[in-house]
Amino acid sequence: VISTNAGGTAVLRFGNTRAFVLGLEVVVADGRVWNGLRGLRKDNTGYDLKQLFIGAEGTLGIVTAAVLALHPAPRSRATAWVGVADVAAAVRLLATLRAALSARLVGFELVSAQALAISRRYFPEYADPLPGVPWSVLVELEDSGTEAALAAALEAALAEALEAGDALDAAIAGSLREAAAMWALRENIAEAQRREGPNLKHDIALPVSAVPEFLDYAGALLDRRYPGVRFVVFGHLGDGNLHYNLSPPPGFAAEAFLAEAPQVARIVHDEVAARRGSISAEHGIGQLKRDELVRHKAAVELDLMRSVKAALDPRGLLNPGKVL
Ligand SMILES: Cc1cc2nc3c(=O)[nH]c(=O)nc-3n(C[C@H](O)[C@H](O)[C@H](O)COP(=O)(O)OP(=O)(O)OC[C@H]3O[C@@H](n4cnc5c(N)ncnc54)[C@H](O)[C@@H]3O)c2cc1C
Repeated sequence: VISTNAGGTAVLRFGNTRAFVLGLEVVVADGRVWNGLRGLRKDNTGYDLKQLFIGAEGTLGIVTAAVLALHPAPRSRATAWVGVADVAAAVRLLATLRAALSARLVGFELVSAQALAISRRYFPEYADPLPGVPWSVLVELEDSGTEAALAAALEAALAEALEAGDALDAAIAGSLREAAAMWALRENIAEAQRREGPNLKHDIALPVSAVPEFLDYAGALLDRRYPGVRFVVFGHLGDGNLHYNLSPPPGFAAEAFLAEAPQVARIVHDEVAARRGSISAEHGIGQLKRDELVRHKAAVELDLMRSVKAALDPRGLLNPGKVL
């Protein structure tokens, strides 16, 4: 988890793994052990070496222990499923909820109607809370106060969004069971897509305000090139990270569509780069995106990364062939 700098559905509130790591123990390439197991919030004694190893995908050292910062467990939770007309409305809804709820807003997950339909096709036991809306947002709140106070704050914030026309409708989970069912709709998308057949996945990050325009532009380019291509878009809109997955147009052989992966990635990633986004928000580089990394990083950034690799692993022993 540390080497992948993994993140989840609460990055909006808590950050990804990097934000939790206070200290590390690492076996470095020459076999020595660096004991950096400090638990300090403040430590300005030069380079922050631990950050080099976090998210390095095992290419700079082997992590053997860590000191992690913990957050108090929340005392109350609230969950809602909100229908919106389009992604621009979802972005405005996010702004409204952040302003009203501040740090209590923990998750803000976008689900397109197409993604929801696939999820329900393979997991029909979970009902659609708001049938017919084109886009949905799963909202999760946490707090240290009472359930009643949190539910009231959520209702008030959603009422504001409905009044402003940024939400079409909303369903608030009335029990833990209902909240779990809402989360299941979102979390089953990846597995449902796997069952449905091959698709091309993109794990992108954009400034949140640029997401609607990206979807319009990339969608138009892809639809022109692959008429009828099916967009299965969902993800962590609250932190700008979308899973932008494409299923073959009807009648397009799956293998032929998969063979288009480099051309499709080029279209998607160029539109991401044009808006100062990232071609890999949480899934890393590995071998799959090594060539794309070279296309999208500045020469100076790549040189610095290669210098770090050469300094820490001069013989190229650690996870060779990955990232660089
Ligand atoms: C780059 C990357 C990013 C990912 N991001 C996310 C995410 O944001 N959210 C999510 O839910 N899932 C994510 N995943 C899925 C990921 O498999 C899990 O989050 C988690 O990393 C799995 O842990 P694991 O111990 O099984 O690691 P493995 O799958 O065994 O290894 C993952 C990577 O970490 C390296 N590694 C493993 N152990 C060590 C070690 N002790 N020291 C140094 N390097 C090591 C490996 O070489 C490999 O590159 C990501 C996967 C990858 C490869």
